[in-house]
Amino acid sequence: MRREQPTLAVFKFASCDGCQLSLLDCEDELLAVTDRIQLAHFPEATRTRIDGPWDLTLVEGSITTPEAAKEIREIRRASKFLVTIGACATTGGIQALRNFADVEEFTRQVYAHPEYIETLATSDAISQHVPVDFELRGCPIDKYQLLEVISAFLYGRRPQVSSASVCEECKRAGQVCVMVAHGTPCLGPVTHAGCGALCPGCHRGCYGCFGPKETPNAPGLSGQLEALGMERATRVRFYRTFNAGADAFREESEREESGNGP
Ligand code: SF4
Ligand code: SF4
Repeated sequence: MRREQPTLAVFKFASCDGCQLSLLDCEDELLAVTDRIQLAHFPEATRTRIDGPWDLTLVEGSITTPEAAKEIREIRRASKFLVTIGACATTGGIQALRNFADVEEFTRQVYAHPEYIETLATSDAISQHVPVDFELRGCPIDKYQLLEVISAFLYGRRPQVSSASVCEECKRAGQVCVMVAHGTPCLGPVTHAGCGALCPGCHRGCYGCFGPKETPNAPGLSGQLEALGMERATRVRFYRTFNAGADAFREESEREESGNGP
């Protein structure tokens, strides 16, 4: 049977479901989207299940188990386009904090029978396991950026999602820079745009939930954080939150931790 509409499948791995909720949160816009797309798999929204291949697959969550590593390869094979959504899927998420620890050691400490636990030593971004067509950042993602990605797919064009920094959004919004004006540490200069500079608009610094921008100068920012009086251990933690596994943030936190920072 010929399908009239392209099929959309939504899958999740290790994550909190927040990015899938961003899709549900589209409310009015979602009606327009569902009108143009056939939901083939989206357990949070429907019991409908249409077997692959799917035209567009959205994947939330990071890969933390051998079973998940196998499943994402099967999903990739069944997907024409695969887009990862959110910090977990694009950088390993908050659970990538395990990448800096000894997983076997804390599994032994937490579980009475650690032999039943089958886990990877790291929390991985999806792109570490399979090729990805587009990565949408954020913790959670921005629903308007998500709609842009879906409509770009529908019209066969590249998504127009800025890879600039939160600083650019902050300036465009005419906001006072909390770092320059008040000495408040802010990760905005190295963080990917998408939120409209929400936190500086509330007079607080950005803590990087959209992950690194395209060309971040984290060592440069660390020098400024040090000049503001932020101690090295705090700077390490500043880079190790929702996107601790992102290369730019991970490398800078390790550089700081090893004492090679400013
Ligand atoms: S407040 Fe932060 S995001 Fe805004 S301009 Fe200053 S450093 Fe950049
Ligand atoms: S932490 Fe940064 S990226 Fe996240 S909402 Fe606040 S300003 Fe935006």
